[in-house]
Amino acid sequence: MIGLSVSQLSKSFGGLQAVQAVSFEVKAGELVALIGPNGAGKSTTFNMINGQLPPDDGEVLLDGESLLGLTPQKIWRRGVARTFQTAAIFGSMSVLENVQMVLMSRGRRFSALLQRAYRYRREEALALLDQLDLKALAHHGCQTLAYADIKRVELALALASEPSWLLMDEPTAGMAPGERQALMALTRSLAKQRELGVLFTEHSMDVVFGYADRVLVMAQGRLIAAGTPTEIQANEAVQAVYFGQQPVIGAAS
Ligand code: ADP
Ligand code: MG
Repeated sequence: MIGLSVSQLSKSFGGLQAVQAVSFEVKAGELVALIGPNGAGKSTTFNMINGQLPPDDGEVLLDGESLLGLTPQKIWRRGVARTFQTAAIFGSMSVLENVQMVLMSRGRRFSALLQRAYRYRREEALALLDQLDLKALAHHGCQTLAYADIKRVELALALASEPSWLLMDEPTAGMAPGERQALMALTRSLAKQRELGVLFTEHSMDVVFGYADRVLVMAQGRLIAAGTPTEIQANEAVQAVYFGQQPVIGAAS
């Protein structure tokens, strides 16, 4: 099967079943939102897909091949990227240099770092920054960037490895509503352009329903619904768990 799929994925922490028999797939070029109240098991699911956390049970397949037991680095080399957290950006370097760093590690050229770093894949890095509307900031130190620009640099760093799959855990956390929309609109257009399969978590319902092709809903470790945004909005189980109560999911916005 072509695509990223998880089946019967499970993880418990002590007595707590954080993720219970979760199955879904993401196809090339598809934007899939994974939503659910805080503590639903979304991040744990992400961590099992990208190799940070070994599942207790279940399987993660990429184009039919198991990713289980591979390190996050090996999974990344197979084309599954994850947006870097802000801490992963080197504040002392410029926007351009940060992207060049990722291109270097992708090309296994860390040894060339010192002498040739300045020239290394500069045009390629600048082209990517241009796509993300960051070219004007290429030579700015990352410490000086506005928050919304940092989030776009994180996306640039993830895309620099030319992944086929992108995992974004709360990519718009801490952003203003307009900025959230802009970041997801950009992510969506890049995903369609590059045939990139994207799995993302998001608290803002406007963003989820505006940009996702498909929505997966988790609650208390289980997948309780999956469907198009329209189907999910009409789903009674989702409404009961979620929209019926004061939205826990909006807590971070
Ligand atoms: P979400 O991302 O949907 O908010 P998480 O996957 O982070 O949820 O967490 C799911 C549940 O697992 C929560 O109850 C959380 O407290 C618990 N949990 C997550 N990571 C750990 C851990 N490393 N050790 C113990 N409990 C954890
Ligand atoms: Mg989380």
